[in-house]
Amino acid sequence: MIRPKQRDLFAVIGNPVAHSLSPVMMEAAFAELGFSAVYLALEVDSISEDLDILWNFGFRGLSVTLPFKEAAFLFSQFTEETARRIRAVNTLRRHENGWEGTNTDWIGSVRALEQVSPLRGKRVLVLGAGGAARAVVYGLIRSGAAVSISNRTPERGEALAQAFRCGFVPLAELEKDHSGESFDVVVQCTSAGLLGDEDPQVVPDSFFLPGMIVMDTIYTPQWTTFLKKARNAGCSTVPGSEMLLHQGAMQLEWWLGREKLEPAVIGAMRDALSKALADG
Ligand code: NDP
Repeated sequence: MIRPKQRDLFAVIGNPVAHSLSPVMMEAAFAELGFSAVYLALEVDSISEDLDILWNFGFRGLSVTLPFKEAAFLFSQFTEETARRIRAVNTLRRHENGWEGTNTDWIGSVRALEQVSPLRGKRVLVLGAGGAARAVVYGLIRSGAAVSISNRTPERGEALAQAFRCGFVPLAELEKDHSGESFDVVVQCTSAGLLGDEDPQVVPDSFFLPGMIVMDTIYTPQWTTFLKKARNAGCSTVPGSEMLLHQGAMQLEWWLGREKLEPAVIGAMRDALSKALADG
C-alpha cells in the first residue's frame, strides 16, 4: 500500500495528456490562492480500472479530458444534473463513497461569452454537434439564449437540436447572402482546423458581420483562422482559451467548495495560459 504524504492531490487524466495546459493553469491558481496542492498530468489507459487506483491513492479531484469524458460519466458513482444533461463528465471529486462527476465546460463557454455581453435573448448559432457543442448548447439555453445548431453531418446536428429543443440550420443556408444577419453570436465547436494546419471554412467569410460576437472553442492556436476572419470583419472575438480558463476556474470552485474565485486568481490563470500558448 502506498500512502502519499501530500494531502491535496489533483490531476488531469486523458490520453494523450502530455500537452495539456491544465497543469500550468491550475498550478498558477494554487500559487495565487496560497494553497499547497499538487496537480499532475496522468496518461490513463482504462478509466474504469484507473479511477479505482486514483481513488485508493487519495486523489481529491480530477479534470477529465479527451477521450474519457463520456466514460467518466458512465463510471462516476454519483453525477450532478448538469453532467446528466450533457451526458459527459469533465470533473470528478472525492465523495464519501466514490467519485462524483460534474461538467464545467458549459459554464466555461457561458462565462467566456458573457465577458462580452449577456446571453439572455441573444440569437446564437452553434457550429458542430459533438461533445463540446452539447455542453455549449446546454449552457446557452440555460442562459436564456435562442440557439440554432448547424453541423456537417445533418442527422447528428438534428439529433442534438431535438435533444435540446432548439433550431437546426443546414450548412447550405449559411452560405446564402445575408445569412449572418440572423445571429448575434456564433460559437465554433467543430474540430475542423484544430492545430491551425488548415483553413477549415466552416462558414463563408461573408457570414461574419460587424458587431457579431464570435467564439472558437479551439485554443491551439489561440488565434485560429476562424477567429482572425471574424476579427477582420469587425466582430468581437473570444478565444477558446477563455472557455478553458473559466471551465478550470469552475472546477477549482467545485473541488474547494468556494463561491467564486477572486479576479486575481483568474488573472494568474489567464497569464499562465497565455504564456504557455505563446511558448507553444
Ligand atoms: P467531437 O469529435 O465530439 O465532434 C467534432 C465535431 O466537429 C462534429 O460536429 C464534426 O462534424 C465536426 N467536424 C470535424 N471536422 C470537421 C470539418 N472538417 N468540417 C466541418 N465539421 C467538422 O469533438 P468535441 O466536440 O469533443 O471537440 C470539438 C472541439 O472543441 C475540439 O477542437 C476541442 O479541442 C474543443 N474543446 C474546447 C474546450 C475548451 O475549453 N476551449 C473544451 C472542450 C472541447 P460531424 O458530426 O459531421 O462529424
